[in-house]
Amino acid sequence: MDKLNLEKISLPGLDLERPWVIAGPCSAETEEQVLETAKQLKAEGYNIFRAGIWKPRTRPGAFEGVGTLGLPWLKRVKEEVGMYVGTEVANANHVFEALKYGVDILWIGARTTANPFAVQEIADALKGVEIPVLVKNPVNPDLELWIGALERINRAGVTKLAAIHRGFSTYDKTKYRNHPQWQIPIELKRRIPELPIICDPSHISGKSELIYEISQEAMDLDFDGLLIESHRCPEKAWSDASQQVTPKNLKEITTKIELRDPKIGEKPRTELDNLRLTIDELDTKVLEVLQKRMEISESIGKYKRDNNITILQSRRYDEIMNNRKERGMKLGLSDEFLTDLFESIHKESVSRQNDIMNK
Ligand code: PEP
Ligand code: MN
Repeated sequence: MDKLNLEKISLPGLDLERPWVIAGPCSAETEEQVLETAKQLKAEGYNIFRAGIWKPRTRPGAFEGVGTLGLPWLKRVKEEVGMYVGTEVANANHVFEALKYGVDILWIGARTTANPFAVQEIADALKGVEIPVLVKNPVNPDLELWIGALERINRAGVTKLAAIHRGFSTYDKTKYRNHPQWQIPIELKRRIPELPIICDPSHISGKSELIYEISQEAMDLDFDGLLIESHRCPEKAWSDASQQVTPKNLKEITTKIELRDPKIGEKPRTELDNLRLTIDELDTKVLEVLQKRMEISESIGKYKRDNNITILQSRRYDEIMNNRKERGMKLGLSDEFLTDLFESIHKESVSRQNDIMNK
């Protein structure tokens, strides 16, 4: 088992009860937006405010955060609204600046966790500092890299640590912005049971409609808390507009979440449960791939219709069957299974093209 030297996360004067909710906009945009959003969140009963000050963006030219200019705004949230405040740090300078303005919680973003040099620089800047640090999973599904980042921060003397699960980048377009791959945080929990894990359904989903179901799933997997993006006016947000919810909406979401007791009737998650979870995720992918394949078949159907070509071209069908069977057999799949599978796929594809042709 991996060993970290951990202490319970606490904030002065606040008992963190499961699920702890950290809420606030993706980015601090203006002083007014920060304060207004914080006041609305506080009015709904939330106590921990998040806002990105430095935003690592995938492509240049997008809004990269207001920078140090926004830190006094967080200080006002702390002093005037009475919330604890947290922000993302990606280098040593961010750590020094955030501490200077009294930020209560720091977190390391997914792109930073993937870079051990950056994590080590942050760890060095945190030596001798007593502050809770949350480490997001790296963008790639690599549990060792995630644990490695937690270890680096822990070795610098930070004992109030937690992990944030925010999903993993995929090239495939799925219903998620970042695929949850739940088996990875579950394995993290198995290896470091005393490490709290919170879920970030906003970055997993990429859209506000999915936040409730992902949050519920996280709580059913016994996560400790949630980090959710909330903006007073999501459609006008300067970053991640489609995944943010208003404070009011957030309240509806968190009220609806059912908290099942992990202790009553507790059964340890068996290897079979983990295997089944992996099967569920793989089947989701199989279905998504099939759906994509049928969409392409329909585009081919349209092309054939517009160019007056027959649907069935025996030579092409023969080629597909032989090629797929050869490749499948190299992967250890049986001849019979591959024949059935591709005959069935081809049948559905012909039927879709037929619908288009004869509509
Ligand atoms: C964020 O929390 O706004 C953020 C940038 O998240 P991530 O590092 O998960 O992409
Ligand atoms: Mn965001």
